Amino acid sequence: MPKTGKVYIETFGCAMNHKDSENMLRELQEENFSQTSSPEDADLLLINTCSVREKPVHKLFSELGHLNRIRKESSKIGVTGCTASHLGDEILKKAPYVNFVLGARNTSKIREVLYRDGAVEIDITHDDSLHSFGETPISKFQKSINISIGCDKKCTFCIVPQTRGTEISIPLDLILSEVRKGVEAGAKEFLLLGQNVNSYGRRFSLKHQKIDFTKLLREISKVDGLERIRFQSPHPLHMDNRFIEEFATNSKIAKSIHMPLQSGSSRILSKMKRGYTKEWFLDRAERVRKAVPNVAISTDVIVGFPDENEEDFRDTMEVLEAVRFEQMFSFKYSPRPLTEAENFPNQIADEVAGKRLQTLQKRHLEILNSLAEDRVGKEYSVLFTDFEEGCLLGRTSEGYLVKSLGTEESVGKIKNIKTTSSFRTYMKATIL
Ligand code: SF4
Repeated sequence: MPKTGKVYIETFGCAMNHKDSENMLRELQEENFSQTSSPEDADLLLINTCSVREKPVHKLFSELGHLNRIRKESSKIGVTGCTASHLGDEILKKAPYVNFVLGARNTSKIREVLYRDGAVEIDITHDDSLHSFGETPISKFQKSINISIGCDKKCTFCIVPQTRGTEISIPLDLILSEVRKGVEAGAKEFLLLGQNVNSYGRRFSLKHQKIDFTKLLREISKVDGLERIRFQSPHPLHMDNRFIEEFATNSKIAKSIHMPLQSGSSRILSKMKRGYTKEWFLDRAERVRKAVPNVAISTDVIVGFPDENEEDFRDTMEVLEAVRFEQMFSFKYSPRPLTEAENFPNQIADEVAGKRLQTLQKRHLEILNSLAEDRVGKEYSVLFTDFEEGCLLGRTSEGYLVKSLGTEESVGKIKNIKTTSSFRTYMKATIL
């Protein structure tokens, strides 16, 4: 394969996967690869897979078949990410035209496997944490930074510990130097990424001073020129009072928080091995809202987990009513290979789970409509990041998308705005 060419990449799944894709693209730039959106023109085609969503294996092989039909004869195909970790050389057996397989914990080896046909690198104990992360901004003004890799939790529905391995935190110095580099390049907002960000500091690959997530936030917020910090995803179990106080009082921390509920039933939460109860979750959410009245809380919910009965589902509905999430990602449970829950008895019929999901989403839409109405006439601060057809686009600290008339000069700046009209997915506003 020539040491130059075009790379086409398809990314499925979470923000971590997108970050891995960015990191691989950056590595490939070192090999003189440039990105193309056309698979027919590519010299290298990558599918960065996810195992969390519906039918990941089926999706992978159907996409591989499609790419194989349309690609250039001389091109190579690589499969990376979580499904690569769990299927390994099965992929080469089923699709012998694939040139290499690279697990989610091994993406730093992309340049190495590029020239090794048949390579399968899926070691989930591989320490990718010191892989130096380069300039891969979300936009000129926003940058994401990995603060940890892997996950030590054992949620029974989740495949991540099997594909991304145990948790390793990135050293503080490396994170701070990435933030400073980002600020120098013009970034104002930083998104800290990890499967479980707020257990930061649990384990480092080398000897490291003791530091937890709250202290990390404090240290990052001291960097001159940084204006906003976001993070994804925290675990409700680790939201202690110290963290909530820092979240509320540190003006650099954006006032939106993801609190993945998964289920409102303590009985189901225990079967999921989430480590908290309905009461704990409600208490944390209430504390967060009390400390930051305008906070936007988002969540993930799974309905129809094995053995979930109507009473359990009512608990989930009760939490929805109590917290009134500003955003909710909700799914029907479906068993994932290599997870504990795959073999749980009392799997719920698809029809029953489907009905529950409908009920949940219908009520959530009503809540979203009423929350949107409440935002009219309110003031927010917005980081404008784009300008399209005379319209400025940006997000408030709470994460709401804002469209406002204005001039391109406001791009890259934080401005105060007043909402003139508000919908479920965005707001219109005037700059104050
Ligand atoms: S916290 Fe649970 S759901 Fe999240 S990545 Fe870890 S095991 Fe998966």
